[in-house]
Amino acid sequence: MLLKDKVAIITGGAGVNGLGFASARMMAAQGARVVILDLDKAQPASVAVTLGQQHMGVVADVTNKASCDAAIKAVMEKMGQIDILFNNAGITQPRKTMEITAADYEAVLDVSLRGALYMSQAVLPHMRARKQGSIICTSSVSAQRGGGILGGPHYSAAKAGVLGLARAMARECGVDNIRVNCITPGLIETDINKGLIPADRMTDILSNIPMNRIGEPNDVAGCVVFLASDLSKYCTGITLDVNGGMLI
Ligand code: NAD
Repeated sequence: MLLKDKVAIITGGAGVNGLGFASARMMAAQGARVVILDLDKAQPASVAVTLGQQHMGVVADVTNKASCDAAIKAVMEKMGQIDILFNNAGITQPRKTMEITAADYEAVLDVSLRGALYMSQAVLPHMRARKQGSIICTSSVSAQRGGGILGGPHYSAAKAGVLGLARAMARECGVDNIRVNCITPGLIETDINKGLIPADRMTDILSNIPMNRIGEPNDVAGCVVFLASDLSKYCTGITLDVNGGMLI
């Protein structure tokens, strides 16, 4: 059991087809008690119950600091400790540069970037008190390629910002034995891209993926468990690509 006695919070974890829930399921199988954090409409509590009674669901909006702080207070009251934070919540929008409105920009940057900061701020005092912790932030191949398959430039910017945020937090928090790392998924089949890939583009997309398939949520979950666990205990500030070779 790689995560025995650990408590892990997964933001945006309630979508049962998503990267967050796949990671929550794999973490639970490795012995962790997991906290599924998500928006009200995603019903995180009922999703958490599907994993077992020892797990927890909490409603929060990661773009709202008071909401993040209240969620962490509730987690501490029920679970007593926080070992792992997976900053997974994110949204995307297919836009060209000239189409991005102020509201689009705020929405996309707020969830991925502001959300990762607010959630990290909320958990850090509890991790520092026990001199241990692993924070995993979710960037994207869109940040690395300077343009995504599905997201607009504002999405690439948000995910590039996540890389900088995570590295700076890693530099600051290493002294407290708190590790901060990023995953950079390529194209993974989840609800975020459902219906957005035109059939006639799939051949073209696959021709840029040496492994010749798009990813599954469990492909990402395995990497998240690695970064959450002591298997990676001397890794901090790293970026783990999960993209089937898209950047080769
Ligand atoms: P998803 O849409 O299935 O999951 C996103 C979750 O975030 C949802 O459950 C949603 O309710 C939640 N969420 C949205 N706004 C929130 C908020 N303000 N507060 C709390 N929760 C909120 O998408 P996914 O594909 O599982 O994506 C997970 C992460 O991985 C995202 O950050 C996404 O940008 C990133 N990513 C996905 C892919 C891919 O191909 N699927 C590739 C690269 C990166």
